[in-house]
Amino acid sequence: TMSFEDNYQVTSKFCEHAHDFLSSHLIAPTPTNYAVVYLYISNENELLTAAIDRQLQKGEAIDSNFLNDLFSRYISFSHQVENTVIVPFEASLTKTIDNISKQIDKEDKAANSLKKLDKILTNTEHHASLENIVSYLFSTIKNAKSQRKTLSQELTSTQQEIHQLKEKLASSREDALVDSLTGLLNRRGCDEKLQSLNLKDTHSSLAIDIDHFKAVNDKFGHFIGDKVIQRIAKTIKEHISKQDLAVRFGGEEFVVVMTNKTLYQAKEVAELIRNAIAKMKLIQRETNTYLPPISVSIGVAQNNNASNWVSLFEQADQALYQAKNSGRNRCICA
Ligand code: GH3
Ligand code: MG
Ligand code: MG
Repeated sequence: TMSFEDNYQVTSKFCEHAHDFLSSHLIAPTPTNYAVVYLYISNENELLTAAIDRQLQKGEAIDSNFLNDLFSRYISFSHQVENTVIVPFEASLTKTIDNISKQIDKEDKAANSLKKLDKILTNTEHHASLENIVSYLFSTIKNAKSQRKTLSQELTSTQQEIHQLKEKLASSREDALVDSLTGLLNRRGCDEKLQSLNLKDTHSSLAIDIDHFKAVNDKFGHFIGDKVIQRIAKTIKEHISKQDLAVRFGGEEFVVVMTNKTLYQAKEVAELIRNAIAKMKLIQRETNTYLPPISVSIGVAQNNNASNWVSLFEQADQALYQAKNSGRNRCICA
């Protein structure tokens, strides 16, 4: 494990490199630019790193616009999390802790005065002053009691606030990661979930694209087109396991990421999906007629160099392109 000292040194190095990177590309060190470059230097977000490396390889400019795009794609979401949850959480926590320490102060003072009174009480022989002292004692205790009650109410309402914030976060996260038409992950959801996969595992990917989908839209309208997309999404989901990722990657394009399957097994899943879709019977309610059969083309690829999602998806995409060119309604391995 790293000591704080080591950690501090590593972090400082990253800061320095991030500054160097920004100045060598003549980019202003705004918080946004800096955040993106810092993540690139510290290599904390694989997809962001890959995007910058690709830009550098292509010899294209790294400028403020480019970094802003990366920021909104890979970072802004976590900033949103920070602003909606962590900042208010900390504020209310600080408030509570502050209240508790004030309370402890007050109770210490009360305890001290009680002690002093106790001493006086044992020495005194005058009834009148005794009465005064007793009533002071009571009011002190009463005050302490009501203060503690207020504190516990504040604690409870703080807890409720935190609970509500967490729920808000969970639902806004969910909304942001899921495609509303199909319930599959959207691209952002895909990016997010990829980060949590174990890179030591083997992963395979399917790139799925509906065949001649433009014709379906043209003939039957966008509404029916959307229904077809929903049915296909459902069929894809039914043929993969819970821990695999099903993503609506674009309008009528889907990506599946599966863990620990041979390329052969991945192709088998692809064939099952393709067959199930080809056999789908879609009835048009208003006219009570069947839609003509729909098919998909699928490219299958596997990641042996386990840390490169970008190349995995590119390979699957190239295989998909071949499947399209060799007649559609088929699966081809990269
Ligand atoms: P190919 O077999 O080569 O893939 O042919 P295609 O017609 O499917 O391919 P193309 O990329 O030319 O057309 C895709 C069409 O998908 C264009 C667009 O109208 C339609 N589309 C994209 N997104 C949606 C969507 O969300 N809903 C609907 N209904 N249609 C969509
Ligand atoms: Mg397409
Ligand atoms: Mg298509």
